[in-house]
Amino acid sequence: MALIVQKYGGTSVGNPERIKNVAKRVAKFHAQGHKMVIVLSAMSGETNRLIALAKEVSANPSPRELDVVISTGEQVTIGLLCMALEEIGIKARSYTGGQVRILTDSSFTKARILDIDGDNIRCDLDAGAVVVVAGFQGVDEVGNITTLGRGGSDTTGVALAAAIQADECQIYTDVDGVYTTDPRVVPEARKLDTITFEEMLEMASLGSKVLQIRSVEFAGKYKVKLRVLSSFQEEGEGTLITVEEDKNMEQPIISGIAFNRDEAKITVLGVPDKPGIAYQILGPVADANVDVDMIIQNVGHDGTTDFSFTVNRPDYDKAMKILEGVQTHIGAREIKGDRTMAKVSIVGVGMRSHPGVASRMFRTLAEEGINLQMISTSEIKISVAIDEKYLELAVRVLHRAFGLDQATS
Ligand code: ADP
Ligand code: ASP
Ligand code: MG
Repeated sequence: MALIVQKYGGTSVGNPERIKNVAKRVAKFHAQGHKMVIVLSAMSGETNRLIALAKEVSANPSPRELDVVISTGEQVTIGLLCMALEEIGIKARSYTGGQVRILTDSSFTKARILDIDGDNIRCDLDAGAVVVVAGFQGVDEVGNITTLGRGGSDTTGVALAAAIQADECQIYTDVDGVYTTDPRVVPEARKLDTITFEEMLEMASLGSKVLQIRSVEFAGKYKVKLRVLSSFQEEGEGTLITVEEDKNMEQPIISGIAFNRDEAKITVLGVPDKPGIAYQILGPVADANVDVDMIIQNVGHDGTTDFSFTVNRPDYDKAMKILEGVQTHIGAREIKGDRTMAKVSIVGVGMRSHPGVASRMFRTLAEEGINLQMISTSEIKISVAIDEKYLELAVRVLHRAFGLDQATS
């Protein structure tokens, strides 16, 4: 008998029929004697609908009230799943984030979980009930409703599993595991049986939305056994996120390719080439809560230089506005922007022991005539910023060039 947390994403609870199917799967595990805690997302499309609704009323809604609105989707699905479970004779109780007391900080729309009180849940489990918890939401110290950022139900699932010391956290979604890249973009992508936390963290932070990055951080920190599986298949082992790379196996050089469409690039031209200039440009950007990703400062000539960086596309207008103020202040010649950038990254722990990975990546992209506008590397990843229109081509050719199309066994 095990204590299992299962999280079901939006597509998996997208209509009443699917909710009944989830109930059947949960019933199967319950019948085997396992204690079951279920975390749900809102029905697919619902969170987007709620955000759009808010934007119709207010162009710039208060983050506190936005969270009041966008957290409601999950309250619907947890109630419905409990009804479906009761229909098939299983005792079930739903909890909103506040009812569990998933305590978060007060950063509305991107709150961080600080603590989870597992007492109610343990009590219900001991009484033989299935516990169904709303993903994506919590409460702050004074009882305000908060949400955890898009895709945040993954994090609720893993954090709950850590808090109640579950034996396993299973993330059920609309694909049957973590693939070498998004299988919707590259049909030849292969499902991975295992992927290391390190790699999964990079993949998630570089755009693979199959797991929210914070859920992977939690699982790594609290040693939660984490698996990604399909809610549409009866069988299948999915993908296990592992702590260690498998020493018995020859490591592939690259495990996966991640990408993000939502990038924008800003270049400040003719900046005086003197100490403190990066701070003068990026300080005000950071103060406005805009994340900066890749940064390049060119070699100076004639006492001036050019300075480029990327931001998330939704922050582009805000960043450009801030820089208009900065431009006069530092005496830069011109500011240029491009809001249609994308980032492609290759990820793999095997990179550590294989030289020449970067040159193979650059050659592959050059052969397709794809211009690399920015490059950044770490020990286990190489990212390039390119024009968005080449994104799918870039992912496909890299997938092939690094042998990810082929079966390994
Ligand atoms: P859920 O609603 O279940 O949380 P998401 O849409 O958040 O599901 O995440 C699953 C989706 O992630 C898949 O449908 C797939 O298109 C996408 N995805 C991106 N990269 C990968 C990858 N490397 N492996 C698997 N799925 C990926
Ligand atoms: N419903 C939320 C979202 O769409 C949380 C989630 O699905 O994980 O982002
Ligand atoms: Mg998701």
